[in-house]
Amino acid sequence: MERRLEITPLSQWNLFPEGQPLVIAGPCSAESEIQVMETARRIKTLGVNVFRAGIWKPRTHPNTFEGVGAPGLKWMQRVKNELGMKICTEVACERHVFDCLKYGVDMVWLGARTTANPFLVQEIADALRDVDIPVLVKNPVSPDLDLWIGALERLNQSGIKKIGVIHRGFSTFEKIPYRNSPEWQIAIELRSRYPQLPFFCDPSHMAGSTKYIEEISQRSLDLGLDGLMIETHCDPSCALSDARQQLTPEELGTMLGRLVVRKSDSDSPEYKENIDQLRAKIDVIDESILYTLASRMKISRQIGEYKKKNNIAILQTSRWDSLLEKVIAKGAEYGLSEKFVTTLFNAIHDASVSEQNAILGEQHPEQ
Ligand code: PEP
Ligand code: MN
Repeated sequence: MERRLEITPLSQWNLFPEGQPLVIAGPCSAESEIQVMETARRIKTLGVNVFRAGIWKPRTHPNTFEGVGAPGLKWMQRVKNELGMKICTEVACERHVFDCLKYGVDMVWLGARTTANPFLVQEIADALRDVDIPVLVKNPVSPDLDLWIGALERLNQSGIKKIGVIHRGFSTFEKIPYRNSPEWQIAIELRSRYPQLPFFCDPSHMAGSTKYIEEISQRSLDLGLDGLMIETHCDPSCALSDARQQLTPEELGTMLGRLVVRKSDSDSPEYKENIDQLRAKIDVIDESILYTLASRMKISRQIGEYKKKNNIAILQTSRWDSLLEKVIAKGAEYGLSEKFVTTLFNAIHDASVSEQNAILGEQHPEQ
């Protein structure tokens, strides 16, 4: 079932100036008044106008730095009053919300571990009822799109319409270069279901290391996301949390200057004519791909009938392995990657096997 969300467009949030990309930056955690003010001053000169800092930190292990708590909100309030920046932080329960409201926090976000907990999301949604500040919802730790959407619905039901999301990647047991797996297809699915939903990426928590922040940021912009939340610390080597993934303000400035913002479309008649011609060619090729797949499936069904008649099992793994090997080699000759060919042919094979299974289950008229 498609669930409706009432969403206030980003342009009416009164937080971001016009123009891309929108950047929220600041340290993983507020650690001291000096660190907060120093970081904020240095990112303000880059044009960043929304300052982030974690006040309460949901840490994986106990006996680690769990945030400075409510006193840190006073430092953030100084950032707001003295530097004119907007301030935002993470809330994970009703008490956090009330403290934030006391200190004039302009926007809050729900962390990945909170989004995964409907009791907490509901508690926060109730605490924010009749409060007109924007709320960003990070994806839950597990790749569960419904849980993510459920959190947005709970906020919406409390009358909160300034809602947006932050993609920070998903936990995975697999060894991958990033700290959290991007699973871009989930973000793309959410984007296509709710095209008007303000959409940010958090390359810092996705990357887990400063090394990958630029490539993830560029990918986010290429996918047309609205902005980035990037952890930035005046002295990352001394950070009390997430030291490996925080940029210095200067590194942030250099990276932002290098990011390429692509237009979503162009008014140029020449561009339009060329792109229309290329798209027309793609449409013709797509149709022939479908025709070819349908022809292949027809033969696959004939094989299914034949196997049934001769009482042969549907799946012959050795035949499949050699077929796959052949198409991968052929694909490579055509410049297609092994990963793509394998994914494509696995999908074709799955469809083919289920057709043949269906045939096996059919009763013959004479039986
Ligand atoms: C954070 O933004 O500091 C944070 C804890 O993020 P996440 O919820 O994505 O882990
Ligand atoms: Mn962090």
